[in-house]
Amino acid sequence: MLETSRRWRREGDSVGLVPTMGALHAGHMSLVERACQDNTKVVVSVFVNPLQFGPAEDLDRYPATPQRDLDLLRSAGVAAVYMPSAETMYPAGATTRIQVHGVAEPLEGEARPGHFEGVATVVAKLFNAIEPDRAYFGQKDAQQAAVVKRLARDLDTGVEVCICPTVREADGLALSSRNAYLGPEERKAAASISAALRRAANSYGAGEHDLERLRREVLEVLEAEPLARVDYAALVDAETFRPPGTLAVLAVRIGKTRLIDNHDLAQPFPG
Ligand code: AMP
Repeated sequence: MLETSRRWRREGDSVGLVPTMGALHAGHMSLVERACQDNTKVVVSVFVNPLQFGPAEDLDRYPATPQRDLDLLRSAGVAAVYMPSAETMYPAGATTRIQVHGVAEPLEGEARPGHFEGVATVVAKLFNAIEPDRAYFGQKDAQQAAVVKRLARDLDTGVEVCICPTVREADGLALSSRNAYLGPEERKAAASISAALRRAANSYGAGEHDLERLRREVLEVLEAEPLARVDYAALVDAETFRPPGTLAVLAVRIGKTRLIDNHDLAQPFPG
């Protein structure tokens, strides 16, 4: 992979990387499209990174659709798909881990111990294995995007980290590979997550700027949905991920499925 990427860059190509865990959907493909606009070669990595899953999490049942992913990426015109095995990424004896402090600590960092260490380690390895000019991440995973931006700067990677907007279903639910876990009733209940963000963004737009009242509005919408259990709901600063701020970040359990979403309340909610 590195030989190919280096050859491309020697020949004057620019290389864009889109890291994914596969089970591709229109959210992933929006990153691929943007990468194809900005670069002459696009590499998509497909790797379900065991390091970023906790022991009680869904690594074993994480959806995999490799043939469909390859077909989609071929049609999109990507130059390469990098699909390493777990043994290639973490051969016996590999013990190095990357820890981002600060922005990686609250919220997802607290709810999923070790998660961002796994993310940071795999992203650093992908940057080294591909040496891209640019790498693309989704706003859907806002804290991950902030962690990756921090890592890219702090480790002098020279990689430009580009954040792309969240792609949503018609009812507002953010596209996620984990939506495949939802039964029909749960799928309906999951719409409460974006509805809560929409309600607070509308209130903000109507002049309600009291952050605690806005947070309570978010909670009210979610608590009205019997199948939803709030893991956290916070209004944070978009750089530090600590309060106060207008970025509403949510983690919600719908049945056994844990979903995350976010929206900057100072911006109108799309759709
Ligand atoms: P994943 O396969 O879940 O690790 O996601 C791979 C990349 O796609 C990450 O940068 C995600 O933030 C991004 N992504 C996932 N869902 C969406 C979405 N609905 N809209 C935009 N980007 C997304």
